[in-house]
Amino acid sequence: MSFVEPERYFSRISMIDIQKDILDAGFTHVLLDIDNTILTRDTHEVPRDVSFWLSKARSAGLTFCLVSNNWHEGVYDLARRLDLPIVAKAVKPLPPAFLVALRKIGAKRKTTVMIGDQLITDVLGAHFLGMTAYMLQPLVEQDLKHTLLLRNVERAFMGDREPEGASVQAAEELSDESSAQAINQG
Ligand SMILES: [Mg+2]
Repeated sequence: MSFVEPERYFSRISMIDIQKDILDAGFTHVLLDIDNTILTRDTHEVPRDVSFWLSKARSAGLTFCLVSNNWHEGVYDLARRLDLPIVAKAVKPLPPAFLVALRKIGAKRKTTVMIGDQLITDVLGAHFLGMTAYMLQPLVEQDLKHTLLLRNVERAFMGDREPEGASVQAAEELSDESSAQAINQG
């Protein structure tokens, strides 16, 4: 695995198997990006599957700290709503915020996984500190201008690497559609 590539790459957070992919892989703590990882960049919502996954993960014993480069008041509100600790204005990929976050939740680098949607900030930041990084496809296409620039860099490194869970997700969407059609027809 190259330094600039995530250890795992998923289509979205709910496609990560909490037991198999996190607990069995030896992780007890998670540093979690916010924008386009758990919060949609366009409508500023936490999708239902995402909030369900989060509560399942916490019941399973995982400890989270949000780590966001975002500096708006909204991310603090979100942290309060989710009842999670947060380090905002993080300037990822630089190490200080990651270290503050680890300390905040009493986490060790070896047993902590960073989950985020950006290669340059989330994945590189984790790797600088020798931590594992799981990358996600962004929740929505809309992104800030400087993020869009970084997306081109990502494409250069990730090429056409397929995210895990993409086919499961497509199948679920299809079955949602067909059950919706069945309801409409019924
Ligand atoms: Mg993000």
